[in-house]
Amino acid sequence: MIRVLDHPLADHIVTHLRDRTTKPATFRSLAYQLTLLLAIDATRDLATEPKTVETPLEPTTGRVLAHPPFVVVAILRAGVSMVQPFLDLFPDVSVGYVGLERDHDTALVRHYYCKLPSLANRRVFVVDPMLASGSSANRAIEMVKNNGGPAPTLVSIIAAPEGVAAVAKTHPDTSIHVGVLDRELNARKYILPGLGDFGDRLYGT
Ligand code: URA
Repeated sequence: MIRVLDHPLADHIVTHLRDRTTKPATFRSLAYQLTLLLAIDATRDLATEPKTVETPLEPTTGRVLAHPPFVVVAILRAGVSMVQPFLDLFPDVSVGYVGLERDHDTALVRHYYCKLPSLANRRVFVVDPMLASGSSANRAIEMVKNNGGPAPTLVSIIAAPEGVAAVAKTHPDTSIHVGVLDRELNARKYILPGLGDFGDRLYGT
């Protein structure tokens, strides 16, 4: 299942993120804003529970977010940029990090860092701004499942069709929320038209 943000503000932000003349400070703030939109959209089916409160006039029963709060798992390093917007909207969430790199000899993705909170009975959102070949996302989703978590929701700013297909094939139980679905990958596995290397654009490297 893939869901693409359908909002004029998302289009506006993505266009400025793509622009090679956008400087890192502006890029970071645009990435923050787009992730806010994604976080709202991707969490539309969060469980809620009833809560009765007293207004100044009478008691009323509304709904609040159910406990335990969900977990955000960021893939290092670019995924870190998507954590704060989630925390600002949902201050009670727990955050995990996975560091992944490609093994030069085997070309397989291996993890060099993994710090995850308890995942049992929690909703989990894996965040990685660029869903390119899907290898990192697939590995992170596998790590969530291997650590007792459910099929997570994957949240990305830009996705390539190849990455979406790879995740759908390996983890058909994962839903994918993206800001925009781009055309294709190039030979170096960069997304086209894309925005270049997200981490480099964020940190000016
Ligand atoms: N990661 C990036 O930062 N950019 C791409 O185009 C693909 C993967």
